[in-house]
Amino acid sequence: MRPGIELAEKRVLVVGVARSGVASALFCAQHGARVTATDTEPESKLAEAAAKLRAAGVTLELGAHSPAMFEQQDLIVLSPGVPADLALLATARSKGIPVWSEIELAWRFLRGRLIAITGSNGKTTTTSLIAHILKWAGISTVVGGNIGTPLISLAESTTESTFTVAEVSSFQLETIEAFRPDIALLLNLTPDHLDRHHSLAEYARAKLRIFENQRERDTAILNADDPEVAQRVPTKPGVYWFSRQKHVSAGAYLRDAQIIVRDHGDEEIILRRDEIPLRGDHNVENVLAASIATWLAGAEPAAIAEGIRTFPGVEHRIEFVAEVRGVKFYNDSKATNVDATLKAIAAFDSPLLIILGGRDKGSPYAPLREPLQAHTRAAYLIGEAAEKIAADLDGAVPLVRAETLERAVAQAFEQAKPGDTILLAPACSSFDQFENYEDRGRKFKQLVAELGKHHNGQAAAGASSQAH
Ligand code: ADP
Repeated sequence: MRPGIELAEKRVLVVGVARSGVASALFCAQHGARVTATDTEPESKLAEAAAKLRAAGVTLELGAHSPAMFEQQDLIVLSPGVPADLALLATARSKGIPVWSEIELAWRFLRGRLIAITGSNGKTTTTSLIAHILKWAGISTVVGGNIGTPLISLAESTTESTFTVAEVSSFQLETIEAFRPDIALLLNLTPDHLDRHHSLAEYARAKLRIFENQRERDTAILNADDPEVAQRVPTKPGVYWFSRQKHVSAGAYLRDAQIIVRDHGDEEIILRRDEIPLRGDHNVENVLAASIATWLAGAEPAAIAEGIRTFPGVEHRIEFVAEVRGVKFYNDSKATNVDATLKAIAAFDSPLLIILGGRDKGSPYAPLREPLQAHTRAAYLIGEAAEKIAADLDGAVPLVRAETLERAVAQAFEQAKPGDTILLAPACSSFDQFENYEDRGRKFKQLVAELGKHHNGQAAAGASSQAH
């Protein structure tokens, strides 16, 4: 049984009027709570959300947070964008007011079982793949969390037989209390968000909270090849591993280029590695993780295999865009940290011209030196981080200060030879020049489409398959 919560007549403050904040405020209001929503942004920037909330009877406090408001609540619900160490929250906590992330609230209302996925990279891909396989296997599935629909908006559609597949971020995990997945996956731990989490240890602590409330009958799935993960094994839940490099007695691994799932004595072959439609070793890891998670959730091996074969991939993750004059273009705009960029570089055999840069997130770029030297002809630098990247990569590979994505695409294309690949895998966030990584990825695809029209006399149609 989950610890419930009676919302009727409760005073609830929702901090952060973005997607999950709006969903939380609406949910609490529908359940009879007296809800206030607050954000430091002014109403002019939040007009649409504000109108929706007002119509549902939510009180708004926009443009600034009032300290008194934080002290007169029964519950505070945080949006993932709001720092959990805000001073106002410390005061509220000291008065005994619970401060929860939206996933904590949602968990108390979700029925059925929960598979939660966290890690530095691969969350969205693995979450989508797990949901795709479960649906393929005929299992009632909803998918959400950090990806797409907030969990709180899914809660009412779940039943005792539903599997909820949830992508959860370190920000959301920072403020859980009883949140307990039946199956929890930790894909990897590499430096990311150090601008907000300050150190890898602190970031790892937040991610590991995914296992914190699990009991003996719950399942933890961990990456055996990631040294940062392998040294942080939870003690309570049943532990399963996935590995590309070694055989595991409980989990998923590669044997003779086949994906195998194993639960001690019990073993099944899922499919051959070369049947995986996604590029790169990192996607083999995602497939291994998804195979063991879905097998433990009750999917048949044949359905798991078919689910993997038919998975279309996710937009902006090493997504094939088009080929123009013999040059292929790939959009990996979601490579917003150095590790994701390393994985993208490793996924190609052809010579690369790579576009790097955007807003710096606090990690060094020096780990890119060797792979860039080995695989790329040149790097085209854009955005705020260009000079830091240039300093870290100096001498490793020709660097072109392109400043904008438009110029980077044009200059890379000018210098590319047939057989080359132009890869957007920027290792930075996008907020200096774009709304978000989707906006950056779409602009890249537009630029490629324009090149295609000009050079091929055809629209460079976006292909969804990543198998090129
Ligand atoms: P997340 O949701 O954790 O950001 P995504 O699936 O959206 O993960 O992928 C983010 C970036 O990381 C993309 O550039 C993708 O190609 C890359 N990536 C995907 N899976 C992995 C993995 N297992 N390890 C490292 N990088 C990965």
